[in-house]
Amino acid sequence: MNFSDFEFDEALKLRLDSLYSQNRQPHAIVIEGADEEKCEQLSTFLTMRAVCRAENKPCGKCEQCIKAKEQAHPDIYYAQPEKKSQIYSIEQMRDIIENASIRPNEADIKIFVFRNAEKRLLPVVQNSFLKLLEEPPQNCLFLLLCKNSKGLLNTILSRCTVITVKGDESFGEEAISLAKIIAEGTVAPSEWQLLSAFSGFTDRKLADETLAVLTVIFRDCVAVSRGIKARIDAELAIKLGKRITTGMALQLVEATEQARQKILQNVNMDLLSAFLSGEYRRIIWQR
Ligand SMILES: [Zn+2]
Repeated sequence: MNFSDFEFDEALKLRLDSLYSQNRQPHAIVIEGADEEKCEQLSTFLTMRAVCRAENKPCGKCEQCIKAKEQAHPDIYYAQPEKKSQIYSIEQMRDIIENASIRPNEADIKIFVFRNAEKRLLPVVQNSFLKLLEEPPQNCLFLLLCKNSKGLLNTILSRCTVITVKGDESFGEEAISLAKIIAEGTVAPSEWQLLSAFSGFTDRKLADETLAVLTVIFRDCVAVSRGIKARIDAELAIKLGKRITTGMALQLVEATEQARQKILQNVNMDLLSAFLSGEYRRIIWQR
């Protein structure tokens, strides 16, 4: 695979390499990630790779690659939402289903890209799309871009390959220091410390960023126990590691991700704090 011109991190490159090993082409891929630009970049990469005929795909230089890169390839269809409602309509999906069975023009494959899929594909439209995924036409690739794949029906997800694109994880000072206080609170004997730490959740954006830092801190506990460098704070990771086992760390990450999902669903901050402190205490103190 040729990654030049693309700034993918090592984890993503590995994922793509293994996905395309033995030259297999998945027929439906969900690209999820908060960083729209990065998701878009991956989408472009995948369309180029699919149409390129060079040995080391995507070569980035052939006519097929260039057209894909400029989003001007006749076999790559970017679904356009309805102007007023901003959704992909059922009629549109019908057209796409029909179109998918027609042979491609220039490439050996037809590609359909849906941006903002979790918002623009209503469940009823996802259901009609599902029929297409159940018996995918030959030589078609469907790309669904979304912030969070949990917004799509499970029946759709089970027929897709999901690739998560990590955002640029440079965190703000405020989020880092708040996350550290919360992390310390999880191992403190009294629940009070944890609850008062959560009072720092004044707005959604800060709360979400703080939780993102927390997932890294919990992962750091596992990392340092295996001799890998901590990304946030080595001293803290060692301290937490004395109380938090690997199994607990993974549960803590899971609970934190669930909480981030709740932020997306507009939960209020008090409920969020109550949920998290309850989960953290249960996991660490087995209550
Ligand atoms: Zn090419």
